Amino acid sequence: MRFVADSMLGRLARWLRMSGHDTAYPLEAGDRELLELAAGEGRVLLTRDRGLHRRAAGAGVESILIGDDHIHGQLRQLMEAGVEIRDTPVCSRCPACNGDMEAVEKGDVEGRVPAGVFQGVEDFWRCRDCGKVYWEGGHWEDIRRQVRLVRKDLNPR
Ligand SMILES: [Zn+2]
Repeated sequence: MRFVADSMLGRLARWLRMSGHDTAYPLEAGDRELLELAAGEGRVLLTRDRGLHRRAAGAGVESILIGDDHIHGQLRQLMEAGVEIRDTPVCSRCPACNGDMEAVEKGDVEGRVPAGVFQGVEDFWRCRDCGKVYWEGGHWEDIRRQVRLVRKDLNPR
């Protein structure tokens, strides 16, 4: 599934990208552009806006009305809807820009990441679009914890 998220859902868009889902997040887009993008590229619209959700239905665009302001409830809703949210980032889509990521040689990122990171980390990825470099860091533990909490909510036992 590919998605387009409205401007209220930036954090959710980054989460979806970390799970490998192609997620557009066109900050400047108005309702009409969001609907056109969803229809044109076959993306599921994610929105906090009830009116936009209704317009999507009228235009034959699949959309999910996100019912929660907080990321925990948002992830829970999508997982209940059958969207796979991974507890380990897959490093296939750039969380910042949705570009394709590729694994890079450690030598290629010397000087482009903090020295302490360069010494302690072996695996790096780079976004083909924006050039941002990623590695497995402490925030991965936060991601695992968050996903575990949501799963626990969904399956108390
Ligand atoms: Zn990028």
